[in-house]
Amino acid sequence: MSRVLVIGCGGVASVAIQKCCQASDVFSELCIASRTKSKCDALADKLAGKTKTNITTARVDADNVNEVIALIRAYKPDLVMNIALPYQDLTIMDACLTCGVHYMDTANYEPEDTDDPAWRAVYEKRCREAGFSAYFDYSWQWAYRERFEKAGLTALLGCGFDPGVTQAYCAYAAKHEFDVIDTIDILDCNGGDHGYPFATNFNPEVNLREVSAPASYWENGHWVEIPAMSFKSTYTFDEVGEKDIYLLHHEEIESLAVHLPDVKRIRFFMTFGQSYLTHMRCLQNVGMLSTLPVEFEGHEIVPIKFLKALLPDPSTLGPRTHGKTNIGCIFTGKKDGRDKSYYIYNVCDHQACYREVGSQAISYTTGVPAMCGALMLLTGKWNKSGVYTVEEFDPDPFLAALEEYGLPRRERRDPAPVE
Ligand code: NDP
Repeated sequence: MSRVLVIGCGGVASVAIQKCCQASDVFSELCIASRTKSKCDALADKLAGKTKTNITTARVDADNVNEVIALIRAYKPDLVMNIALPYQDLTIMDACLTCGVHYMDTANYEPEDTDDPAWRAVYEKRCREAGFSAYFDYSWQWAYRERFEKAGLTALLGCGFDPGVTQAYCAYAAKHEFDVIDTIDILDCNGGDHGYPFATNFNPEVNLREVSAPASYWENGHWVEIPAMSFKSTYTFDEVGEKDIYLLHHEEIESLAVHLPDVKRIRFFMTFGQSYLTHMRCLQNVGMLSTLPVEFEGHEIVPIKFLKALLPDPSTLGPRTHGKTNIGCIFTGKKDGRDKSYYIYNVCDHQACYREVGSQAISYTTGVPAMCGALMLLTGKWNKSGVYTVEEFDPDPFLAALEEYGLPRRERRDPAPVE
């Protein structure tokens, strides 16, 4: 029996909420709060009569810490699930600390305004010192470690699929499959087709910022940064087939490099079709991915926000997306003195997700782990004070929950390496 406050009611949150309602013995009371309350009400109406979870809704602007504090004080949750945007991570963490409530999210902090001089000074110093230039990194949230520890509270960061399940796969490989892990390649394949010439599968602004950033990977104790989309290969994925893959910077590389310090190389690859890349380059070249406001006919507009308004809403892609996702990790290393390679992954069918929860597989593969992470915290299976990423917890109960709630794992011995 627990009370949970979910902030955000977009594509990912709506899956997580529906999954929480499948475990109403744990998620007995749920408040859905977001900037647009009508979306929360619509989801609550959809679930009415189909779950024993008691659902209420509220409006909150999570950029405003006092509004979040007031809502937490009024609702008194045991846990706040932040499934809004990475921009709200710090305000919601601050509110959780003030009110003495556990916290979790699905993506690490980045600021909405990347031209804010105070943030930019810290960012530029980090680029020089750490050696990668993505806008997001863990330093902002890791700075809360001591305060969460002292308050006896847990903050679970990045509990979607990647980041999230991919780190649980790493913890599982380290616990059960290897004595020494030498390399990790994380492979994120979306073999789905939504029929649009260009659309993103999750929040367009966050997605386009991520994929247009310089690529980087971890090797022999430091970052190697290369131009965006400059490392291309192909890989044949189970149940999807051969796809072009591109090396990207991704947030879990940063935490894995800290928590698995003996691993020599950690890389992340994502599949992209040529149409997506051509559109993205064109939009970048004409300035449509800029976060800098421009004056247009007497109004100030931010190009990437305007673009988001034009693009299909990812939460509407469910009915038209066909095909499968395949996301997982390939490891090399040693077990009992012998060289070994191992691949652990999940295959998820877009249409099966749509039939179950009305969403495509990208929202599903993020929302289910968010719910399973909350389940670990609420049932005490993951129970330590401080700020943690997924690989710092026991992967076994989490992988068992993923299996039960729709994301079973598959394994391969001696998989083909990424060349
Ligand atoms: P959406 O844009 O679909 O939904 C975001 C939700 O947050 C909306 O309901 C939005 O409200 C709400 N929101 C935005 N700003 C505020 C605010 N200031 N106060 C309160 N609510 C707010 O995003 P997604 O569902 O696609 O993504 C959700 C999160 O999941 C993101 O952080 C994304 O980066 C992360 N993600 C993680 C993945 C992983 O594997 N780890 C994979 C995919 C996504 P409104 O309707 O008013 O705009």
